[in-house]
Amino acid sequence: MGKEVIKINISKEDDHVFHRNLNLEYPIIDRAEGVYLYESSGKKFIDGCSGAVAANLGHGVTQITDAMNQQAKKAAFVHSLRFETEVLYKLSKEIIDLAPKNFSKVFYTCSGSEANESAIKLVHQYHKDRGNEFKRLIVGRWQSYHGNTLGTLSIGGDLKRRTSFSALLYEHPHINSPITDNEDMSLTNYIDELESLIKNYGAENIGAIICEPIVGSQQGAMVPPYEYFKRIKDICKKNDLLLIIDEVMTGFGRTGKNFAIEYFDVIPDIITFGKGVTGGYAPLGGIIVHNDIVKAILENSNGIFKHGFTYSGHPVLVATGLAAINYYKSNDILYNCNIQSEYLLKGLNQIYDKYKMIKSINGKGLLIGLEFVPNRDHDKDFKASEKVSERLNQISMENGLVLYPGSGAKKGKLGQHIIIAPPLTVNNTE
Ligand code: PLP
Repeated sequence: MGKEVIKINISKEDDHVFHRNLNLEYPIIDRAEGVYLYESSGKKFIDGCSGAVAANLGHGVTQITDAMNQQAKKAAFVHSLRFETEVLYKLSKEIIDLAPKNFSKVFYTCSGSEANESAIKLVHQYHKDRGNEFKRLIVGRWQSYHGNTLGTLSIGGDLKRRTSFSALLYEHPHINSPITDNEDMSLTNYIDELESLIKNYGAENIGAIICEPIVGSQQGAMVPPYEYFKRIKDICKKNDLLLIIDEVMTGFGRTGKNFAIEYFDVIPDIITFGKGVTGGYAPLGGIIVHNDIVKAILENSNGIFKHGFTYSGHPVLVATGLAAINYYKSNDILYNCNIQSEYLLKGLNQIYDKYKMIKSINGKGLLIGLEFVPNRDHDKDFKASEKVSERLNQISMENGLVLYPGSGAKKGKLGQHIIIAPPLTVNNTE
């Protein structure tokens, strides 16, 4: 606040950035504070979706930036093949304390995609080293997103992102994930779909199923029925499949619980995380592993996970995670998330009463999705060519509010949507 605003002028000839869209001009953010982003021209945005649902703690938290700086000065990098640091042990203990019971180890990556890739490899190694080398397939769901690397695109269901690269994808099977208002499918139908898939492919060829507990970008925060994950877990047990829960978007308080799977009283085998673990201050992700798998790796693989990255457990990244978790705890961010969620939902319900274009309001905590149709009294969806979420995104950007446009997987009956997911530190006025 009150700082001089620098206007950056970059000519087309001097622009060497491979932008996401080379035809667009992107606002240049000069600084960020709390829930606000400030463009170099002076324009202010409310970060209404925490970037990509990552900046859970808002911007400019000096406790976190100081911790990053201190660790960078102490020991910026050691390689996990030979060395570790104290912050690595401390963060792992904090994460295990937040996780459901009987989880005992944390493996680190630099993103959510790498976390899910690591989960795929751990599943494979787990089964192979127990003599089940053909349990290779991972069941994904059409309405889901697990990352942009080839393995994670293969298990994900983002049709838009998959299409251009379909020739490179591994053919993992998919089922539909529950859409609560889909009259054509009851919960039993969704479960039956999984059971018949297992029959078709053979349980001896399937290693795991991966699910977002509340689907983010693909479904606009639609919450499955309470029984859903219990039934999935029963099928997993019956068929020796592992259950991977992708908490990359939902973890670390985003939905009003430490992990969203807590809403369903189910204990998975692997939890993957990213984004919120550092509140977006550094690129950290990872997997939290149930003790039964850890025991199997000790017994069948000589204790070796045959996988790792140069930056697994990078000291500055884990120091950032540790400072972020301390901040979550000391500021009771979960409490604020739940209070602000109630306030936001109250306001959104008033808007819902006024506008027939809103079909449904979904989600938990501060992961809230709005689904749109031309008129909810009529049974009709927008055409894809109407690009509703993109247009809403553009209008809100022009008005200084950043929202997360949904990609909108079109398998199943689903309208267009946006996600509202401000930092969990947001207050009523903001
Ligand atoms: N899984 C989920 C549920 C996500 O929402 C995302 C990103 O949006 C990812 C995985 C991929 O994470 P990253 O972009 O950090 O690789």
